[in-house]
Amino acid sequence: MTTRLKPDRKAAALFAKIAEVAAEAGYEIYPVGGYVRDLMLGQPGNDIDFVVVGDAPALAKKLKSPLKAHALVTYSRFGTSLLQTRDFKLEFATARKESYSSDSRKPEVESADLRNDLSRRDFTINAMAMSIGTKDWGKVIDPFKGVKDLTRKILRTPLEPEQTFSDDPLRMMRAVRFAARFQFRIQKSCFEAIRKNVERLAIVSQERITEEFNKIMLSKKPSVGLKLLEDSGLMKRFLPEFSATKGVEQRKEYHHKDVFFHTLQVIDQLSEHTDKLPLRLAALFHDIAKPRTKRFDENSGWTFHGHEVVGERMTGAIMRRMKYGNEDIAYVKKLVRLHLRPMALVNEEVTDSALRRLLFLSGEDFDDLMLLCRADITSKNPNKVRRHLKNYEIVIEKARQVEERDRMRAFKSPVDGREIMELFGLAPGPKVGQIKKFIEEAILEGDIPNEHEAAMKLLLDNKNRFF
Ligand code: ATP
Ligand code: MG
Repeated sequence: MTTRLKPDRKAAALFAKIAEVAAEAGYEIYPVGGYVRDLMLGQPGNDIDFVVVGDAPALAKKLKSPLKAHALVTYSRFGTSLLQTRDFKLEFATARKESYSSDSRKPEVESADLRNDLSRRDFTINAMAMSIGTKDWGKVIDPFKGVKDLTRKILRTPLEPEQTFSDDPLRMMRAVRFAARFQFRIQKSCFEAIRKNVERLAIVSQERITEEFNKIMLSKKPSVGLKLLEDSGLMKRFLPEFSATKGVEQRKEYHHKDVFFHTLQVIDQLSEHTDKLPLRLAALFHDIAKPRTKRFDENSGWTFHGHEVVGERMTGAIMRRMKYGNEDIAYVKKLVRLHLRPMALVNEEVTDSALRRLLFLSGEDFDDLMLLCRADITSKNPNKVRRHLKNYEIVIEKARQVEERDRMRAFKSPVDGREIMELFGLAPGPKVGQIKKFIEEAILEGDIPNEHEAAMKLLLDNKNRFF
């Protein structure tokens, strides 16, 4: 049976125009890859890749004006061009076949026909093209049975898997990414080939690895991909610290929860409430230091003292290594450092001053921190879960009241440095900082309100302390 695809009206008009211009130039052209796949799944995107049997950059140039594109970018070395129209991002690539050398994922490129071009693609579901000629409009060109794999929900390589992954090891990360996004199985021989080739990841740049990892973290249920990364051995290659959280130990009657599976559950639970990548990363890293800080205490069993402090340090080092940006690193470190605080507030008779400190330390990220803490409840006992959630509700409500009164989240000292210098006739220097800190402490402790007048009075009353 031939499958015929029905792009929506806008895409259909676009394709008709493109086919007409290509025919005039004497070239064949086909939408391929992700767009065709997603159209079959009923969710076509606006990024469309085309294969041109002919000169892709030359064709893109001819298309610029008929498509009313506002930008044309050409990479002649790769034989590709990008066109941006109002509704679509289009990429035109000259059909090619590739051969690889063992120390680089950058191939030697030669021009080829459509089938050849499709065969070099990563997975059969990404190796389909669609005909847009008037004669067989909408016909799927599927030499590697991608349609069948799409319905069977299977990821499989068009050619021999070992060669495919060895040629471009990034494809191993892509396999996990697509499996996670579509909840597909990776075919057994394909998964075995990944396991055999994991060390080849060494020739892929960290930026590309992290880009795929982020997409996995952004999938609906990240644990699916994270488990595949772990089971294939890929995780050990770029995030061994997370692999190290795996394993359960029993000593005497004390049994400690497997940190790996706990963390997966936390990430999944959090992901139901947020698509914010750095917040999901905070869930990934929150217990990263548990293996390193684990001690067995004869009286109390397993302890992980200081895992939030060591974890903050490890998070910084790992995220720098993985090439995340400084702002994201600072944010994730902060949440890792603070993730136990709200729980501590639940257990004590909570004081306003403790709440002010938490609001002050978490600042704008207080709500994110509370989302993380709520997701961190993974007990199997529903009563316990309900009790913890209730406790957090109380903390959040009390924090709201304190915040309303004291405005600690965007704390700015009510007396600024210039005023302090004028008041005491000081030159800029460490003394000014010390005096500011004194005001800050008094406000956090609740000795004075967060107000200018009260802070000035405090300074005058305590003048003798400073000099
Ligand atoms: P997405 O929806 O994430 O864009 P996609 O399948 O379109 O998914 P792209 O990275 O945009 O993925 O690549 C477009 C197409 O190019 C893929 O569908 C696939 O056919 C091919 N491709 C991309 N990267 C590789 C690779 N490393 N090896 C082989 N083929 C690849
Ligand atoms: Mg794409």
